[in-house]
Amino acid sequence: MAGLFDFLFCNDIGIDLGTATTLVYVKGQGIVLSEPSVVAINKTTGELIAVGEEAKRMLGKTPTNIISIRPMRDGVIADFDITQRMIRYFIRKVQRRKTLLHPRMVIGIPSGITEVEKRAVKEAALQAGAREVFLIQEPMAAAIGSGVPVADPGGNMVVDVGGGTTEVAVVSLGGIVISKSIRTAGDEMDQAIEAYCKKKYNLLIGERTAEDVKIRIGTVLADVDDQHVTVKGRDVASGLPRTVEITSRDIAQAISEAIQVIIEVVKECLEGTPPELSADLIDRGIVLAGGGSLIGGLDVLMSHETGIPVIYADDPITCVVRGCGKYLEELDRIKKSKRELL
Ligand code: ADP
Ligand code: MG
Repeated sequence: MAGLFDFLFCNDIGIDLGTATTLVYVKGQGIVLSEPSVVAINKTTGELIAVGEEAKRMLGKTPTNIISIRPMRDGVIADFDITQRMIRYFIRKVQRRKTLLHPRMVIGIPSGITEVEKRAVKEAALQAGAREVFLIQEPMAAAIGSGVPVADPGGNMVVDVGGGTTEVAVVSLGGIVISKSIRTAGDEMDQAIEAYCKKKYNLLIGERTAEDVKIRIGTVLADVDDQHVTVKGRDVASGLPRTVEITSRDIAQAISEAIQVIIEVVKECLEGTPPELSADLIDRGIVLAGGGSLIGGLDVLMSHETGIPVIYADDPITCVVRGCGKYLEELDRIKKSKRELL
């Protein structure tokens, strides 16, 4: 009976509202959506032109009356209205099937978010048809999703390098003991690559090209085997299209400052961690999550600089949304045990 009940009524949803990518998990189905957190709107009419994948393709290529926006870019909500519309769009997209009961939603939010922003997210989810909304801080969701035993008294450090923000947190006993959020992450690496190409090769390249190069040959280690890739852009002086060969060593140089900022904030968090928990970190290591953490060699460099083992969460890009999903299952368990108590 319970199975049938679940089938008819339960389509509870977990959402990772990332600065670069939004992922949606539906209970019983797994991850059903993964799209860029981008919205294209008509500036004059305010009309929504496209969301997600389609809107990202328009970035930097839109005619003057259309703007592409990443509303969560810096890990904070720049525009409530647009963010709400984006959330509603994604929820409706995964909710084609009409259900009798409205779903419950668990939404992962950046730890630096304000109370007003939290309310805006909740409101958007309720408007999109949620019955109940639970917000969970992203570092906690990342820890749960990567299988870290968060409820244990031992300390665990999670470093989530996203697009707009890097979040570092130490979790213990189901709570966040210390956390820091900075606005240096994947996007800043892209901007550094753009600036580097302009300075070294007199070549103007777009943000998407910079990101593409980073993902294909990016590394933080300047002494690795040199890979190279041909990049197309516009010559600064002539204004004409031109190509140039870029090496992984170029990328390592370009992003070194951003990487140093990330390593520094990890060190600051380590320094602020209570000694008992620091001791645990030596054994358990630091867990890396988020798309930005996939830059080549980050684990090696971070371990070298901190003296602590650094390991990747399995599937670092999806661990926040999977953590939201596990939290959903947990809600049931909590409710059931309450019911038993009553
Ligand atoms: P957010 O949680 O902020 O939405 P994500 O965890 O989805 O961010 O990570 C997005 C960032 O990860 C982007 O800056 C993207 O360029 C970067 N990224 C994704 N894959 C890779 C890769 N293989 N190497 C380096 N960076 C990557
Ligand atoms: Mg994220």
